[in-house]
Amino acid sequence: MKKITVIVPCYNEEEALHYYYEEMSRVMTLMNNYDFELLFVNDGSKDQTLQVIKELSEKDQRVRYVSFSRNFGKEAAMFAGFENSTGDYVCLMDADLQDPPKLLPEMVKAIEEEGYDSAATRRVTRQGEPPIRSFFARMFYKMMNKISDTELMDGARDYRLMTRQFVDSLLEMKEYNRFSKGLFGWLGYKTKWIEFENVERIAGETKWSFWKLFIYALDGIVAFSTAPLAIASVIGMLMLFVAFFFIIFIIVRTLLFGDPVSGWPSLVCIITLIGGIQIFCVGILGQYLSKVYLETKSRPIYIIKESNIEK
Ligand code: UDP
Ligand code: MG
Repeated sequence: MKKITVIVPCYNEEEALHYYYEEMSRVMTLMNNYDFELLFVNDGSKDQTLQVIKELSEKDQRVRYVSFSRNFGKEAAMFAGFENSTGDYVCLMDADLQDPPKLLPEMVKAIEEEGYDSAATRRVTRQGEPPIRSFFARMFYKMMNKISDTELMDGARDYRLMTRQFVDSLLEMKEYNRFSKGLFGWLGYKTKWIEFENVERIAGETKWSFWKLFIYALDGIVAFSTAPLAIASVIGMLMLFVAFFFIIFIIVRTLLFGDPVSGWPSLVCIITLIGGIQIFCVGILGQYLSKVYLETKSRPIYIIKESNIEK
C-alpha cells in the first residue's frame, strides 16, 4: 500500500486544527487504499496549537509532529516537513482548510494514472481578498514571469502533491533563503494544475499582513532573478548618454550666447535625481549582498524543540 505524507504547517492554528482534522479524516476514510501520515509542523505557535496537535497524536497514531523552538516562517516549516516525510507521495496543505482536502483523490490520480510528477493547485478567483492585495499579487506574477526564467503560476497555492523523487530533488536545494513557489517551478518535472474557487479560512486569521507579503515578494524577486542588478547598469548608461548630450548642448550654447549665470534650480533637480537613483541602485546591491551574507553563514533552516518522530 502506498503511503501519503500530508505536511501541515501550523502557526497559531488552535481554532482551525479541529476542523482541519475532521475534514482530513473524512478524506482519509474515503481513500482507504492508502496509508496516511499527517505531519504537523508547529512553527513556534504562541497559542495552544502544540497541545491540540499532541492530543490528536494521542488518539490517532497517523499523526506525527515536529515543533520548532520559535517561529521560523512557513518556508522553514515546509522544509522541515519535507525532511521528515516518509511517504511515497508527499502533500503540502494549509491548516485553515483553504486548501480543500477533498481535492486529494484527484491529485493522486494525476500522478498515478496520468503520469505527472506533481499535482498543484491554483485558485481562479481571489474572492474575499482585499482588492489592493489581489492587484499587487497579479503585478508580482506578471513581473516575475518577465524577469525570471522560472515560471510562476498566478494564483498558485502551495497546496501540492509530489512524488518521492520530486521531494528528494527539492531537498537537494539547501538554500537558506527559500522561495518555494519558485523552487517548485525551477525543478521542472511534469506538473498538473488543478483549479478551484477561493475558499475563506475556516477559523483564526491570516498570518500575512500586506507588509509581510510585500517583503516575501521582494525575497522572491531577489531569489529568482538578477534583473534588478542589471537595472543599475542600464540606468547608469542612459544617464551617461544624457549627460554627454547635455555637455555638448551647454558648450554650444555658451559659445553662441555667452554664459549668463542661471539655472541653479535645474541643477538642484538633477543632483537630487541622480542622488536618488544612486541610492536606489546601492539599495538593490544591498538586497543581493544581504542574501549572500545570510547564505554564507549556512545556519540551519529550523530548530526542532520537540517531536514524536524517532530518528
Ligand atoms: N504558517 C506558518 N508559519 C508562519 C505563517 C503561516 O506555518 O509564520 C502557516 C499557517 O499556519 C497556515 C499556512 O501557513 O497553515 C498559511 O498561512 P495563512 O492561512 O495565514 O496564509 P494565507 O492563506 O492567508 O495566505
Ligand atoms: Mg490561509
